[in-house]
Amino acid sequence: MIPSDFDYVAPTTLDEAVTALTQGGEDAKVIAGGQSLMPVLRLRLAAPTVLVDLGRVDELRGVRDDGDSVVIGAMTTYYNLLGNPLISRHALLLADATRTVADPQIRHRGTLGGAVAHADPAGDLCAPVLALDATMTVVGPVGRRSVPASEFFVDYFTTALQPDEILTGIRIPKHTEWAAHYEKLNRVAQAWSIVAVAATVEVDGGVIRQAGVALTNMASVPVRARGVEEALIGQAANAESIRAAAERAAEGTSPIADGNADADYRSHLARVLTRRAVATAVGA
Ligand SMILES: Cc1cc2nc3c(=O)[nH]c(=O)nc-3n(C[C@H](O)[C@H](O)[C@H](O)COP(=O)(O)OP(=O)(O)OC[C@H]3O[C@@H](n4cnc5c(N)ncnc54)[C@H](O)[C@@H]3O)c2cc1C
Repeated sequence: MIPSDFDYVAPTTLDEAVTALTQGGEDAKVIAGGQSLMPVLRLRLAAPTVLVDLGRVDELRGVRDDGDSVVIGAMTTYYNLLGNPLISRHALLLADATRTVADPQIRHRGTLGGAVAHADPAGDLCAPVLALDATMTVVGPVGRRSVPASEFFVDYFTTALQPDEILTGIRIPKHTEWAAHYEKLNRVAQAWSIVAVAATVEVDGGVIRQAGVALTNMASVPVRARGVEEALIGQAANAESIRAAAERAAEGTSPIADGNADADYRSHLARVLTRRAVATAVGA
């Protein structure tokens, strides 16, 4: 199918992008890698009158060290995340999840900001961002603000972003040398998760000192598995304690039933994949 007509602007600075989005009114939309938005336009599920392309706004790209955090520009592609040493050292979980997204072509176009702003409950990068306690930085016509990941994901494909706001970056507190693994179940290779688990733990002297665990596609938004985290902290990083902690994975979730899995099966998957994610992370 062919999209509806739209105007197209390609600003080169963030200020110009904010102005274009504001002037475009409520039917203007930004486009990043286009890997989710283009199919939506082609199916006419959305018909924006103006597209503001962020592709030439260089200040939105790249990963930088900022003291206790790494800051990832919203337009940083998956491909660039995967090759970045700051990410492998301080946010390994994000790299591990990014490896599972789609195929190399899509990983060259798709952006972390686009994935997070799109907020697909089956998308693979929202749970890692939540597990890593990230903060989103946002700019709009009235200025800049920061939104913690725990408040950013509001509902299916809905975030705390206002229509005239642009996500500029994702700030991740350093999780230096933390073990991490993203365990994903999908029906065919290169597809979205039926359920997935993002797990990162700090192990010291064989004991789990800190843990961040979040679930993909177990509710309308990514969910933090707080019960699992509580059960892991202070325990030996061995198969037995991980198995016991993983039993709490489905607490507080509200999984949907669809053609891929019913709610009970999703809860079962959450427990199994949590066990595998943490065990793989620590090598247990
Ligand atoms: C065949 C295929 C397979 C895929 N498989 C997977 C998969 O396995 N796992 C997975 O997680 N994803 C998958 N995806 C989706 C992919 O990860 C997308 O790249 C991602 O969801 C959106 O990133 P984008 O940069 O392409 O954003 P776009 O498509 O350009 O934008 C998506 C939405 O976010 C908004 N947006 C984008 N950037 C900003 C910003 N900076 N500020 C405010 N709003 C913004 C746009 O307005 C739009 O509404 C797949 C896509 C395809 C086509």
